[in-house]
Amino acid sequence: MVTESIPKFTEPAASLWAAIPPDTRKILLSNVWCGKCGHAVTITNFSGVVKAGDLLLVGVCSDCRGDIARVIEQS
Ligand SMILES: [Zn+2]
Repeated sequence: MVTESIPKFTEPAASLWAAIPPDTRKILLSNVWCGKCGHAVTITNFSGVVKAGDLLLVGVCSDCRGDIARVIEQS
């Protein structure tokens, strides 16, 4: 499930995330590569930080519950 709440984002990460259109956010969250599953999965229970200017989402695979992460590059 994708919710609009952003409970565990740092302040700069939250503002970057808020700048992304909701439809794009849903696509990003439901299209994260999981190395264990070997396919794209939905990231759950995620948090957000900014690393080297890029938004980094860290969370849990919806399928195997393993740790996954996704970098969202800022163009
Ligand atoms: Zn997985």
